[in-house]
Amino acid sequence: MDSFQLHYVDHYEAVPGQGSQVRYTSKHPYVRICQGSGPAIYVKEGVICGENGVPVDERQLPPWFWDQARHISPAMREQVKLVLPEEREAPKPSKAKRTPVVAAPPAVKHVPEGYYACVEPGCEDMVPMQRKGLHIAKHRRDAAATAKPVVAGAI
Ligand SMILES: [Zn+2]
Repeated sequence: MDSFQLHYVDHYEAVPGQGSQVRYTSKHPYVRICQGSGPAIYVKEGVICGENGVPVDERQLPPWFWDQARHISPAMREQVKLVLPEEREAPKPSKAKRTPVVAAPPAVKHVPEGYYACVEPGCEDMVPMQRKGLHIAKHRRDAAATAKPVVAGAI
């Protein structure tokens, strides 16, 4: 690995008043990657080029290319849009991490799923959905009984 060379061939300028800090001044940064005395490979704007500036088919890259590319800092790789092969797989959407259903604004009464909150005045009952009909029917019977009391003994 001691033959590895990475040249940041770009323009930096001293930041006034910031001592030794430098500022990146190029809008089109690129990196030069080479190994030993072999030909260099440039990466710029996500395009991998040979020394002649001609884009290189990734399948024709020398085997050391990605090894060397991994030595480039993530920040620098981002600037030249160099994405490592292992970084390319889109993260698989996890079923467990599905976007949770946004909770409805707090209702007057929290009704568990599958339950029916009775809306009859004065009734706070919450009944399973299967019993909703029976429950409402009960109110209807009660209402009928109240409204038209059976007069005992009436003919
Ligand atoms: Zn009720």
